[in-house]
Amino acid sequence: MVSPAIALAFLPLLLTLLIRYRYYFALFYQAVLVRIWRDCRTGLSREERAFQYILTEATPGDPESILNAFDDWYSKVEYISILGPKKGKILDRLLLERSPMTVLELGAHCGYSTVRMARALPPGSKIYSLEMDQGNATIAEKIIRLAGFDDDMVELIVKPSDEVIPQLRSDYGVQTLDFVFMDHWKKCYKPDLQLLEGSGLLGKGSMILADNVLFPGAPNFLRHVRRSGLYEWRVHRACLEYSRGIRDGMAELIYQGVK
Ligand code: MG
Repeated sequence: MVSPAIALAFLPLLLTLLIRYRYYFALFYQAVLVRIWRDCRTGLSREERAFQYILTEATPGDPESILNAFDDWYSKVEYISILGPKKGKILDRLLLERSPMTVLELGAHCGYSTVRMARALPPGSKIYSLEMDQGNATIAEKIIRLAGFDDDMVELIVKPSDEVIPQLRSDYGVQTLDFVFMDHWKKCYKPDLQLLEGSGLLGKGSMILADNVLFPGAPNFLRHVRRSGLYEWRVHRACLEYSRGIRDGMAELIYQGVK
């Protein structure tokens, strides 16, 4: 049994840790504890709950209203791990500047960033969006179609990225990737980037934008980018989606190798 005097001695340390890491505790509470409790209570996944909300709040065929409904879902109801509006504006700006015709998305999750990209692309462009989780892919497909984007504009592929990337040319007819958005498992960033480098699908000037390179973080990916000499690159500093206190960043890479 710990004596009250010893417990009191540790109180300042405990308070200091709580204050210093309050945003991380809040994230753990919202993203893990609340999620588990609501999963058990509703019998639905977080993504299914979000989809039900979006069905009631968003206007079919209006991508902006779907993005706004996702933001409302977070601010009024429950945490969800999507790109969010602040980092989303960085993505919007880069797409506007580059007007890519062929886009690869690694990690559709529930379709927020897919819709965000699709609404910003020029006519005739195409997104190949990969999601390996069948449950999330089902939600993503519904969200993307609800936003008004058909299979010609957004093709959702439910397979692991390391299986699909080598087949993009032979099975999907992709010749060049103008823009790649990475937002899947962080441990896959580096091997998938190396697969892309070896695929011949990156041309000089192709852009890769990778989310969450600082939190949860992708140090091996950043080390490879730095050492390979294949890219002009920078990190856009931004807080983690919907957080004011957890520092994160998006890595913007421009491929310099000759295809
Ligand atoms: Mg992300």
